[in-house]
Amino acid sequence: MTNRFSAILSVVFITLLYVTCNNSTSNNKTTNTKAMEFIDNLMKKMTLEEKIGQLNQLTSRWEMTGPASADADDQKQLEMLKNGQVGSMLNVCGVAETTEAQKLVMENTRLKIPMLFAYDVIHGYKTMFPVPLAESCAWDAEISETAARIAAEEAAASGLHWTFGPMMDLSRDARWGRVMESCGEDPYLASILSVAKTKGFQANDLNAVNTIAACAKHYAAYGFVESGRDYNTVDIGTYTLHNVVLPPFKASAKAGIASFMNSFNIIDGTPSTASTFLQRDLLKGKWAFEGLVISDWGSILEIVSHGAAKDLKEASKKAITAGSDIDMESFAYVEHLKNLVEEGEIDIKLIDDAVRRVLTLKYKLGLFDNPYKYSDIQREKEIVYSTANQEAARMVACNSMVLLKNKDEVLPISKKIKSIAVIGPLADDKDAPLGSWRAKAVEGSAVSLLEGLKNALPNTIINYAKGCDLAIGERGFVKETFINESDISGFKDAVDAAKKSDIIVLALGEDCWQTGEGRSQANIELRGVQMQLFNELRKLDKKVVVVLMNGRPLAIPKIAEQADAILESWFGGSQAGNAIADILLGDFNPSGKLSMSFPYEVGQCPVYYNHMSTGRGNKPDNNNVFWSQYIDAPHIALYPFGYGLSYTKFEYGKAHINNTVFSENEEIKLSVNIKNTGKYEGKEIVQLYIHDLHSEYTRPVKELKAFKKISLKPDENKTVEFTLTSSDLAYYYPSGEYVVEPGMFEVLIGSSSVDLQILPFELKMGSVLTLD
Ligand code: BGC
Repeated sequence: MTNRFSAILSVVFITLLYVTCNNSTSNNKTTNTKAMEFIDNLMKKMTLEEKIGQLNQLTSRWEMTGPASADADDQKQLEMLKNGQVGSMLNVCGVAETTEAQKLVMENTRLKIPMLFAYDVIHGYKTMFPVPLAESCAWDAEISETAARIAAEEAAASGLHWTFGPMMDLSRDARWGRVMESCGEDPYLASILSVAKTKGFQANDLNAVNTIAACAKHYAAYGFVESGRDYNTVDIGTYTLHNVVLPPFKASAKAGIASFMNSFNIIDGTPSTASTFLQRDLLKGKWAFEGLVISDWGSILEIVSHGAAKDLKEASKKAITAGSDIDMESFAYVEHLKNLVEEGEIDIKLIDDAVRRVLTLKYKLGLFDNPYKYSDIQREKEIVYSTANQEAARMVACNSMVLLKNKDEVLPISKKIKSIAVIGPLADDKDAPLGSWRAKAVEGSAVSLLEGLKNALPNTIINYAKGCDLAIGERGFVKETFINESDISGFKDAVDAAKKSDIIVLALGEDCWQTGEGRSQANIELRGVQMQLFNELRKLDKKVVVVLMNGRPLAIPKIAEQADAILESWFGGSQAGNAIADILLGDFNPSGKLSMSFPYEVGQCPVYYNHMSTGRGNKPDNNNVFWSQYIDAPHIALYPFGYGLSYTKFEYGKAHINNTVFSENEEIKLSVNIKNTGKYEGKEIVQLYIHDLHSEYTRPVKELKAFKKISLKPDENKTVEFTLTSSDLAYYYPSGEYVVEPGMFEVLIGSSSVDLQILPFELKMGSVLTLD
């Protein structure tokens, strides 16, 4: 299996190399000059209305290949397209549809400026990879890049130019449904993975026919919605903003991401869409971002709902002034920008700047040379949902899963086992593993856990019983999900199946429509009658292996205590069932580590590893209650950030640091030897954190600064080395200054955020250093 997976990675990287090598700097310079000339000339020909049209993005509303419906809105949209009032569309996918839509513009508009087609390609186009939260548990930039690369190839072959991803909102609150789209709770890990995904989508060459433009979203702080409730207020200070929220955005801007999407929330009282500070000053100013900024769906209109503008006209003025270049679905710019310019309320330069950014992206994609370049039926047939892509999805899924418990080494299950009971509402669910934000995945197309086990064990008796339903009634992207709270009529069959079998594999978790946009939950336990089912099966004298499928950390203290093994498989994508079987049967040794902490109870949310030092963070010796605790629940995570088991054992030697005092120019070199003392070959993710003991502002108790994934055969050992420089010790002041302060630090090395060796050192410098 490992060899097969390496082969997949090599093919992807040879393609990347090809693309990168064909994109030399001197070529770039020529292209830039040519692009500027071309765009200048074009803009000279454009009327104000035509310019504003470029800033208007609409969703597909009508049957693209058939006759337009009689609906007034559909007709209006068709007219707008033909009049050059639409610069880009979302939700138009597939070669036939994109060709048809592009024709409307190319054959009817005066200047024939091709449209951009955008779509939410979040974790795959038709081949579904694990949801992003899962994928981040691989802690592996190559894996994330590969998944994004394949998603881009499928999307580009379907006529798309642009994805609204990667989503890089940091979140610490498992109640928020959109954590499934995120990389978890850590800014360093999220930065590495967001840059990797950006590379995967864009491959440093937007002109290539197999790449698409990426989009950093949601800028900014959307993951900090109060009480985890989607679209709610955000109230964080600039200290958290700079140190926690912005790093992945800044890293992606630096890595050349083509676009940003702003967010629904307010920041310091201003809706992000209207935030000059975020868009004009920071992103386009200090970070010198040359790409475009798109609003989120209707977020210009929502400036009015936030109460920050009296009407859509004022909202338009605020948004364009702040630096929101494209209006997605608010109809704000098409309706109001012209008047605003003519009335002298806004400078035409704002519009010109926004239009230039849009045209530049179109130019980079090669659309002025050939507007239909990405729409090629043959490529669509060959590339989308190919066998190779399914293999890659299986490999990514294997790497994303996290083994949370394995008492008495109940896993891996021997392939010689005579019978297995496969039970649970998600055990034969072919849809839930596809997750939310599933683009063009075909409903019910995932390999279920039951199928995966049957594929792998043709000679074993598999006794399947659903046990209970989880989600009942109609379900889907826009529908409310109803949970079965009472029907336990399937329990009897489940118990019978279990009694006949040597081991129980029980698939529990969430329906995929319990996470995603608009899916915040106040209860993050296993919903419905699932715990009852677990309790019934627990009564039998059988080993119970729980396979979790979910899109957020769950509060599962009882399962943690009473199950024999727990595999967190998340929503594993198209090949979920095969990947789970690979792990359960030992064909793949699990190596994922959590990117987001699991609480014992929802009341602990937000619970995260990199919290600040507090005045009373530790339990006093005399047992008094006056410290930062709960009197009815633990104050720590059930499963913390960075945690994850393997079938083998890794023994850490004593970690070493090359000195105890460093000057600002000296390298801090760390090393630790790790030995595989178990029976299986396996991968370990070695983690390095720092703790700044005393500084101008309070710092987190620990912060991830580096990690390495190593592979070890039984008995093999390797020395893992890390090098830090003083800039790795820097942090942002609330003012946005990035500084390194002298003083005492600790470096912490180990296998999770709670299993660490501590090495103290001092950074000796004359004064505080400002880096940027
Ligand atoms: C979401 C975005 C998404 C957009 C377009 C919005 O509701 O917040 O993440 O890209 O819709 O589908």
